[in-house]
Amino acid sequence: MQVSELIARKQSGGELTNQEIDHLMLEFAREVVPDYQMAAMLMAIYFRGVNDREGLRFLDAMIRSGERLSFPSIHGKKVDKHSTGGIGDKTSLIIAPVVAEAGISIPMISGRALGHTGGTLDKLESIRGMNVMLSHAEFEKVLREQGCVFGAQTETLVPADKRLYALRDVTSTVAIPPLIAASILSKKIAEGTDALAMDVKVGPGGFLNSEEEARELGRRLVDWSAAYGVITIVHGTDMHEPLGRTAGNAVEVVECLEMLKTGTGDARLLELCELLGGTMLMLGNICKDVESGKRAFTKILQSGRGYERFKRIAEAQGADPMVWNELERGVVARNSQEITAPTNGFISEIHPREIGLGLVNLGAGRKVSSDPVDPMAGITFMKQRGSEVRKNDVMAHVQWSGDSVDSQTGVKRIMNAFEIGKSAPQPRPLVYFTVK
Ligand code: URA
Repeated sequence: MQVSELIARKQSGGELTNQEIDHLMLEFAREVVPDYQMAAMLMAIYFRGVNDREGLRFLDAMIRSGERLSFPSIHGKKVDKHSTGGIGDKTSLIIAPVVAEAGISIPMISGRALGHTGGTLDKLESIRGMNVMLSHAEFEKVLREQGCVFGAQTETLVPADKRLYALRDVTSTVAIPPLIAASILSKKIAEGTDALAMDVKVGPGGFLNSEEEARELGRRLVDWSAAYGVITIVHGTDMHEPLGRTAGNAVEVVECLEMLKTGTGDARLLELCELLGGTMLMLGNICKDVESGKRAFTKILQSGRGYERFKRIAEAQGADPMVWNELERGVVARNSQEITAPTNGFISEIHPREIGLGLVNLGAGRKVSSDPVDPMAGITFMKQRGSEVRKNDVMAHVQWSGDSVDSQTGVKRIMNAFEIGKSAPQPRPLVYFTVK
């Protein structure tokens, strides 16, 4: 089979057969199909699309590219959560340990930074010593002993997604909805979850600009996961502005630890954690509906038990027990800059995509797949969208470790992400829709 012929067919709008998709994905996972051919195929798909049959076959081949985990020693329900990704979306780190406290097992396989968005794995790896590249045996041990584990795609677990994800990240081909669905669900089905609470972001901070596109992806996620026996509920949530008070790697971990310890924090972040956590508690049969799930989630969060659980999970995955005190004092990078208001007024927008791209310039994400990630790169917001500011008020604090021309580009980009208006903007809803 000639991959160049398949690329040419897709370029001209043709379909790929199931056999061709299997060949492409399985040989790509084995590094027989090279990155440059797959990059060309991704670009052809970006412009020509894939139909539902092709998308489902991509999903199936990605699952079959590695092993499918099962945990005979774990008897309770396994429930996971995932987001299509945004700026400052750190909910997994808060929700997972809290839901685990309620007795649900969470075998979480997450992703790294993707395009302009942040990644759970890069955030977790900013915790000194923490290892997310676990073998099957290590993954199962942490899950069995701690009720929750944070893992990654590996050479044996969804290797096709591992390679494709890294390639999409740096070739500007993330925003292909059927491949987003295949990427997410391949991880979730391979990890062996029984149910999934999904957050599909609507707005330029994610990959789907319109509510209609996001709903369509939501429908696809529900239907495709059902074909594998996984029950999924999708919430479509706002990503027209960053989520929470931080975006980056270690700075987001600090914000999560604070919320886990105190039970409070940014209102929109808290509301989203309650919604997704409540959905997981319902999917795990701990609560009868999402509303009672939200109440149960809040109660556990406020007890601080999720904070202790998070530390235990991280330490079981190698985190240095001395790191917590350091993180609670806050993280300080070699370079920093304040972002000040250029004039009096109200912050009418904080454009999330510009913040994300600026953070990639500062090293929080990758420009090429071999780039190291700067765990210290990040932004802390002192003001939110809607805040009133006076000229020279500090709106945010940006920090990073390296010295490069790119970091100055990043700071400029972040400065330009703040828009000041004459009056307070209308607050946006957090949740747009639910698909089940
Ligand atoms: N998360 C994933 O795992 N894959 C995507 O393509 C987007 C978000």
